Amino acid sequence: MKALAKTAGFVFRSIGMILTIAVFAGTCLVPSKSRAKEDLTADFIDYTYKSILNKEVDGERFGFWYWNLKDGNTTAVGMIDMLTQSYEFYQKEYTHEQTIDVLSQMMTGKPADESVRQKYLYYLDSGISMRRYLADTAETPEFKEICAKYQITPGTITDLESRDKNPEMTNFVKVLFEEMYGRTPVKEEYNLWCSYFAAGKALAPTLMDILKSSDFAERGLSDEATIDALSSCMLGRSCDPSEKENYLGLLDSGMSMTYVAFGIASDPDFISNCSGIGIVPGTVTLTEARDMNPELTFFLTRLYTRFTGIRPSADDLNSYVSSTLEDSGKTKDAIVEMLSDPENMALFATDDEYLSAVFEVCYGQSPAQEKIEAYKIGLKNGVSRQRVLESILKDPAFDAKMSEYGIDTHVEKTVPEKIVALTFDDGPYTDVTMRILDALEPYGAHATFFVVGNRVNNYKDCVVRAVNMGCQIGDHTWNHTTLTRLSADGVSTQINDCADTVYNLTGIRPAVMRPVGGSYNSTVSANAGMPMIIWSIDTNDWKYRDSNHVINEVLNNVRDGDIVLMHDIYETTATAVETIVPALIDAGFTLVTIDELAEYKNVQMENGKAYFSIRG
Ligand code: ZN
Repeated sequence: MKALAKTAGFVFRSIGMILTIAVFAGTCLVPSKSRAKEDLTADFIDYTYKSILNKEVDGERFGFWYWNLKDGNTTAVGMIDMLTQSYEFYQKEYTHEQTIDVLSQMMTGKPADESVRQKYLYYLDSGISMRRYLADTAETPEFKEICAKYQITPGTITDLESRDKNPEMTNFVKVLFEEMYGRTPVKEEYNLWCSYFAAGKALAPTLMDILKSSDFAERGLSDEATIDALSSCMLGRSCDPSEKENYLGLLDSGMSMTYVAFGIASDPDFISNCSGIGIVPGTVTLTEARDMNPELTFFLTRLYTRFTGIRPSADDLNSYVSSTLEDSGKTKDAIVEMLSDPENMALFATDDEYLSAVFEVCYGQSPAQEKIEAYKIGLKNGVSRQRVLESILKDPAFDAKMSEYGIDTHVEKTVPEKIVALTFDDGPYTDVTMRILDALEPYGAHATFFVVGNRVNNYKDCVVRAVNMGCQIGDHTWNHTTLTRLSADGVSTQINDCADTVYNLTGIRPAVMRPVGGSYNSTVSANAGMPMIIWSIDTNDWKYRDSNHVINEVLNNVRDGDIVLMHDIYETTATAVETIVPALIDAGFTLVTIDELAEYKNVQMENGKAYFSIRG
């Protein structure tokens, strides 16, 4: 029965062979006559067909293989390669495991070892083709032995696709696609990317390009998932929880994902992972302004988030950082604007909340408790948040903190050409003080009010309004006592009682004082505890009670650096001020407080020293 089948097959094959002659022009020998004897080549074709396609070879195909093997046009593994790529083989719908077993049986005479099977199943799963198995198995002694038995050249596969050349790299391309694009690459992509990497394309910049691609953006991966993906690709492992927390913190502080990748690239595992795959690691190049100066970015993000309730966009942050680096003076203005914006302020229900946010941003920590208490006193009594903020921003602690971020907050003040300090004694007194403030306010003009301590609580509104307008409150003793008649203790008590009262209303302790009548002696000087401010222009408003006299005294005599004495308890003085203020502004004067006058003139005032004018 077996012999008959074989004979029948032989007859069939011989007929097929005649047809083959027509197909392969130039081939004119018919092998049928040698087929009767031992023909190892024919046996090999039989063996291979049965093993791989589980069938007899038909005549036409037989001739094709026979002559190509005989003539050395193909080799054993070349034939196996073509058969496994045939439609017939495909139709068998073998699993990868079955395919390996079929090929192993044929090429080595036995089923694949479990370790070999697992290795190639892993390869196949990583995007490597079955040809890699063929190429490797063709090199084995078992295969060469089988080929020797049939006297067939075993051959080698020399035209492996890129994806089959370096299994680690192919597997990496798979990981890269799965992690970054969320899908498996197709065959062409495997080949393309493997050839890229084999040609030296570096990993880090490639990942940065992917991060910026629309394909990646459309996936809408969370930050955490993106870090996991980058970690898998760059380190070949998942991210440590503590590392991940650190990276998420950086993102939360305003840094970009590129900066996170920059951090991952500094892990030693990055280099070793790349060398294991045979990929050039490359470097992550930081290009965004926010990534160039992390400290500044942290600060600006915290500032913006805390004071607007929303996180800044990447574009906004980049533009803030760049403009800060260009001109840090503008940043201070921007900070003041942000912290004093009424809408932003409205986010803080209580003064405590507002203060702690300002401190956190401006000092990076809470200042001494006594400072907080002072600001709270002022806020409680109607001193504006804006005013408190200005005081906080004048604190050297703010400048020190900003310099940590590379922000120079020392803005060179433009010194006005002519400045004058109007001062008012003996108030406050609503009917007059308020009119004077009304006259100053439209021009943003400042003055100094030397208040009498025991009047302060009767006219709180005047004092608080003056403070909110940027005016200065000076000390004019508790009850308008001439200090030269008092002992050291008496002098101290008069001055301190007034100062305490002002502090308890505004949270700001007077920094300058004016002795009653301008009279002082060595005891007064020694116990004043602050600079003594006298005057260079005396309007004698108290004596004449004549607005025109006051106006003329000031306008006819005023010079840069003058300190003008008036009293905010006479209606005639208020009337005079209503003319004096616009006239001085018209004449090119800037109206300033005593402290501002000293600051503009670069004079460090000393406690107990008398100042009549400050001309610098
Ligand atoms: Zn007085």
